[in-house]
Amino acid sequence: MRKYALIIFDADGTLRRSTIPGQPCPNRPGEWELLPNVREVLSTMAWGDPAAGKTAFGIASNQAGVGYGFLSEVMALRLLEDMVRAAFGCEPPPGAIQLCPHKVDAGCLCRKPGTLMLERLLARWHLTPQEVLFVGDMKSDQEAAARLGCDFVWATEFQSRKEFFDNKRSPVRSPG
Ligand SMILES: [Mg+2]
Ligand SMILES: [Zn+2]
Repeated sequence: MRKYALIIFDADGTLRRSTIPGQPCPNRPGEWELLPNVREVLSTMAWGDPAAGKTAFGIASNQAGVGYGFLSEVMALRLLEDMVRAAFGCEPPPGAIQLCPHKVDAGCLCRKPGTLMLERLLARWHLTPQEVLFVGDMKSDQEAAARLGCDFVWATEFQSRKEFFDNKRSPVRSPG
């Protein structure tokens, strides 16, 4: 039986990292890579629709670089879509990627530790916070989860906490 209906992931420092020295986030293709083991863990999970008893995934990413003009919002979304394909081995479901394009001091409701991105993901699948796990690498991620009232686990721990991920795909049997 599934433990969570939805697992939300931060992006930078959780699933991917910049390959450009001194630049914390990618601004264009070729400037990022998955963190070690991310694909190995996530691509083996049986992701799907919570309404069908599966566990869905979502992304909630602060992308202040958009607000500062380092990249467009279209590019930020494309890079996150590419990350999802690489990490999960599937297309991102519509609405599964949420990003905050605002500057750090914009006072918006979406930038973590604000909870608007997480709320949008819950609303997309009609879920309550008790059904959700958030995986992140920053204090602002942990704070967002606390404000929302969902469970939280550090990115450095989630790969070793297999009890969070009890939705492993069944081994594929060879035909005959
Ligand atoms: Mg992060
Ligand atoms: Zn925002």
